[in-house]
Amino acid sequence: MSAGAEDIVRASSALSSRLPWPLAVLARLAYNYRWAWLPDGPEVFADVDAARWAACGRNPVRLLQETSAEALLRAAADGSHVARAEQLEAALVEDLARPAATGVADEERPIAFFCAEYGLHVSLPIYAGGLGALAGDILKEASDRALPLVAVGLMYRHGYFRQRVDHTGWQQEYWVPTDPERSPAVLVTTADDRTPLRIRVPIGADDVVAQVWRVDVGRVPLFLLDTDVPENARVARWITTRLYDSDPQTRLAQYVLLGCGGAAALRALGITPAIVHMNEGHAAFAALEMTRTAIEGGTQFGAAFEAVRQRTVFTTHTPVPAGNDTYPSDQVRAALGPVAQSLGTSGDEIVRLGRSRPDDEHEPFGVTQFALRASRAANGVSRRHGEVSRDMWRVLWPEREVDGVPIGHVTNGVHIPSWVGAPMRRLLDRHLGAGWALRSADPATFEPIDAIPAEELWAVRGDQRRHLVEYVRDRSQLQRIARGDPREYVEASARAFDPEVLTIGFARRLATYKRLHLLLHDVQRSFALLGGERPVQLLLAGKAHPRDDGGKRLVQDLFAVRAQQRAFERVVFLEDYNLGVAARLVGGCDLWINVPRPPLEASGTSGMKNVVNGGLQLSVLDGWWAEGHDGANGWALSGEVDPDEAGQDARHAGELYRLLESEVVPEFYDRDAAGIPQAWTARMKRSMRTLIPAFSAARMLAEYEERVYRAR
Ligand SMILES: *Cc1c(COP(=O)(O)O)cnc(C)c1O
Repeated sequence: MSAGAEDIVRASSALSSRLPWPLAVLARLAYNYRWAWLPDGPEVFADVDAARWAACGRNPVRLLQETSAEALLRAAADGSHVARAEQLEAALVEDLARPAATGVADEERPIAFFCAEYGLHVSLPIYAGGLGALAGDILKEASDRALPLVAVGLMYRHGYFRQRVDHTGWQQEYWVPTDPERSPAVLVTTADDRTPLRIRVPIGADDVVAQVWRVDVGRVPLFLLDTDVPENARVARWITTRLYDSDPQTRLAQYVLLGCGGAAALRALGITPAIVHMNEGHAAFAALEMTRTAIEGGTQFGAAFEAVRQRTVFTTHTPVPAGNDTYPSDQVRAALGPVAQSLGTSGDEIVRLGRSRPDDEHEPFGVTQFALRASRAANGVSRRHGEVSRDMWRVLWPEREVDGVPIGHVTNGVHIPSWVGAPMRRLLDRHLGAGWALRSADPATFEPIDAIPAEELWAVRGDQRRHLVEYVRDRSQLQRIARGDPREYVEASARAFDPEVLTIGFARRLATYKRLHLLLHDVQRSFALLGGERPVQLLLAGKAHPRDDGGKRLVQDLFAVRAQQRAFERVVFLEDYNLGVAARLVGGCDLWINVPRPPLEASGTSGMKNVVNGGLQLSVLDGWWAEGHDGANGWALSGEVDPDEAGQDARHAGELYRLLESEVVPEFYDRDAAGIPQAWTARMKRSMRTLIPAFSAARMLAEYEERVYRAR
């Protein structure tokens, strides 16, 4: 049995001991997130006790721990409910029993995937945004493809910050502790005496101790290191408290823990990876610790590092310079000195590996540079991001032309079963045949979409929009009451949201380069769109970095405008963007807008999630949309780089308004005798047929296997 698997079995049998026996099956399902992407999975848990399910944040372990005895007995007595749970378990067992895919790795020597965050489900808040959502989708797709892969990360006790917006429109941050004991996670114990496994990682002068949690994601085990143990001093215990802690020294300690500690944990678990995939620079130090085995065999550091490099690959995710962490050399020498020494090298040598120009004493250490030097293959996350990355990092290969810089690309994709709404899934089940999601990398799978009657497609769109509008009415009232808005305003503005109105979504990190302000560039024109004969309604969500006042001001400006114009009731800012809010928004919005300043969008994935649900895109030709747009499957704004930012903003805003006024709105509202917008549904079909296969996680993982994992 693989490391920690027995601990999962014991945790689920302990949980089942408090349940009436027919519900023991739920305890077995609760400790593997596979239910989260099985049709009927979430519903089976929700039907135990819907109110409790919501109250415990859709965490199945807490649900089973906290549901009242009466409710449990009621569920146990419902034969059809138990039968549904048993069906889920049969699907899980069948899934786990499949032989592993062969090719680049096998179960003895899997791919080890390292990432600082994982967005698997709202009930496990160890993610911040796009990077985590992507990592979560990669694990789920790896499971669906039976790819032998294990994942490594950190168990953040307080996760990422939560967001509240006060009555002035200013973002407030707060943190909520999660108890891993009440998560679908188990402590990995040693085979000898069943005590929790301990990993020791020298970080600076401290010998930091970490324990290891295991979370099952279908066939993929995710191992999460946690320093909140009594042996550690307070400062060391804090390391795994907050994702992307605002203190740079703590963040560096997190990266040492993730990389060095994660690789040490794999060794302790008896896992020897065939390939190490460092997803973003945070994980770069994994390569360092991986050299230990070779060093112990007597090899010198340089040769050992090179041998490890031959099986290490790296994905870079950000073309924004500030997104690539750098540290003063002294700090890195201090934090990594002891590790370096134990590997027969020095802190100085490590620092040199992290500089664009190793000999430049004034240059700080960059985790991306280090990761590029530590890997045999590197890639950006869209075609354009590959180009931008080659240009950005060419300084590391001064003897090469920019086209010869060894950074390729694998464009991101999304895990379709996780993001498709239930009405759309049922429609596609009927028209594309069973198992279509497993064939989602193949364009032929989606050809039957052309033959779907427009009425059926439109009915699904209407259902999903209505669900979203109900949710928005409820959430927005709650958030506005809490903010102290007048009661009449709270109720009137909830009524202003209409299930028949063209619904536009804009949800992303509130960084200034994402240019939320373009939507307000000409307030009168925005006002006319919102309050016109053929109106639109606008849903916004996203978090600003806690120290980014510019980002926070974007929301505040919006609130200021709203106070002046009644039509702005049709604009809602939903607090605390997370996977749950994202699923609602991408499921219900008819149009998804993305207007980053080119070329700063590495890929973007929320639009892909919206496409799966029949939403149409209006985006700048940057990131994935530069590959996806074909002229007829959505709308595009030009993607040129322009140093005159104000000029570009004005041009893009003008074009955005023009497209909305003269193409989007008419196409949505022009209906035939049966009430169907034929041009709109035709565009939906084209969007789904051309974009779903190209931007599926299935296509993405197939390309990782082909272009990155397979040694050349
Ligand atoms: C998909 C997703 C993202 C990333 O979306 P972008 O298009 O890259 O902005 C961020 N946050 C959450 C919660 C998501 O689900």
